[in-house]
Amino acid sequence: MTNPVPNIQTKEGQAQLRQMGIRVIPQPDEVSSPYWEAARRHELKIQRCGSCSAYQHPPASNCRCCQSADMRWTQLSGRGTVYTFVIDHRLMVPGFDAPYVVAQIRPEETDDDVVRITANIKECDLHDVHIGMAVEVFFEDVTEDVTLPQFRPAGRKP
Ligand SMILES: [Zn+2]
Repeated sequence: MTNPVPNIQTKEGQAQLRQMGIRVIPQPDEVSSPYWEAARRHELKIQRCGSCSAYQHPPASNCRCCQSADMRWTQLSGRGTVYTFVIDHRLMVPGFDAPYVVAQIRPEETDDDVVRITANIKECDLHDVHIGMAVEVFFEDVTEDVTLPQFRPAGRKP
């Protein structure tokens, strides 16, 4: 008799979850949905304040600098650097096969350490990832409705 509740901390459990169609996917809300809609079009967009021009991410209703509600969406080049990262060796999240890198990316357009995009770093050896590494966005279509902006070493592919 099989266990009806897969143990996600095993590769077998992760495989069971995948067969069941269970994995963690973003749940866009009113404020964040433009980010995910842009991702579906394979565009990387984040908020920029219409009043003081500050970039902002993660998205919020008001500007982090001047509290303006005039938040607009602006397209980024997709290039940036690794601000910080962790390598997750555990099998804790359905749909993510450990080990994998979770990083915070600082977009090249931003001039402070506040704006960071959280994503996986892929298409390279886990142990090559380092702080300050140049990366570029690519888009991973996870389902028909959900695309994840992800990052890889810059300049590897056209
Ligand atoms: Zn502002």
